[in-house]
Amino acid sequence: MLQAATTAPGNPSSLHWAGRAARRIVDDARDRLAAFVGTESGSVVYTSGGTEANNIAIHTVLTSSSPGRIVTSAIEHPAALKPLEQFVADHPEWELVKVRPDASGAVTIESMAAAINDETRLVCLMYANNESGALQPIAGVAAICRQKTIPMLVDAVQMLGKKSLSFSELGIDFMTLSAHKIGGPKGVGALLVRRGVKLKELTPGGGQERGRRSGTENVPAIAGFSAALGKLDFTVCEPIRDLFEKELCQRLARVEVVSQQTERTPNTSLVILPGLDGETLLMQLDLAGFAVASGSACSSGKREPSHVLLAMGLSELKARSSLRVSFGPQSSREDALALVEALVVADQRLKKMAGLAA
Ligand code: PLP
Repeated sequence: MLQAATTAPGNPSSLHWAGRAARRIVDDARDRLAAFVGTESGSVVYTSGGTEANNIAIHTVLTSSSPGRIVTSAIEHPAALKPLEQFVADHPEWELVKVRPDASGAVTIESMAAAINDETRLVCLMYANNESGALQPIAGVAAICRQKTIPMLVDAVQMLGKKSLSFSELGIDFMTLSAHKIGGPKGVGALLVRRGVKLKELTPGGGQERGRRSGTENVPAIAGFSAALGKLDFTVCEPIRDLFEKELCQRLARVEVVSQQTERTPNTSLVILPGLDGETLLMQLDLAGFAVASGSACSSGKREPSHVLLAMGLSELKARSSLRVSFGPQSSREDALALVEALVVADQRLKKMAGLAA
């Protein structure tokens, strides 16, 4: 990124040497990303991240179709759910169907097929859930969409680099990616578009990205996204994640591991610690130097339990007792064991405090 910022300071649309150097960096990055996700370079449109990429795809389809049904899952990231909900709120003649997952955290092909009817204008399904890591049946749903010629958007933000994926093999219209989930910089991502699909710009302007996403490309961030692709190795996470879960369940027998019974991304662990509050636990772990997430998200000062866990059928109480741990290629077995130890200590401390308060 530093090299891109210093040796290629130009605007990639400029014709002079500094611009051409920047253009080369963007073109090389595009070729590498396209090869990595099994598509042609012309399919890659750089964006400011997964949120923008989802919004462009949704805007493209919904503003060029007659009113009808949108089929999605109840466990999408807000970066897909919010624009869909907002569109339907503004256009009440449209219908949004959110398919619930089963208890494992994945929607079934059958439940998606039952929701997709002749009025369906868009199917939007994430590849891997960001809270549980549960993989969704993308290939099966893509086959239904191909057969019915319904545009499909796959939010693959959590899937990139975790398991292999091929955009062209799926035969879908759109796939979205983000760099910061693979150790790249924040604020850059990509929308993959099937050849022949014309995008509707959210930000009309100078016509960059072949008229598909205006605004000068963020060259250092694109270079960083590309560099992160070259360093990817999430396979090393799986045995460490599994060790963490095994040790934790041994030490605290009441712990439940979410989505353990289905295929998951190798780096994610979502655990329920009944009787404990996820957010309080998070703060205790933070003091001990661990950066983990609680399943619940804090919005406008009000703590909401995770919509993913609620959609899976968990009670509010359980949903508030969840903790999400993401392992990275740098995580070690010692880290996993130290985290288990810190959780046991936090559990004892919180129990003692609850006892004192009672
Ligand atoms: N989709 C999923 C599944 C995500 O997990 C995220 C980010 O956490 C996004 C979309 C949004 O991506 P970005 O932060 O690049 O806008």
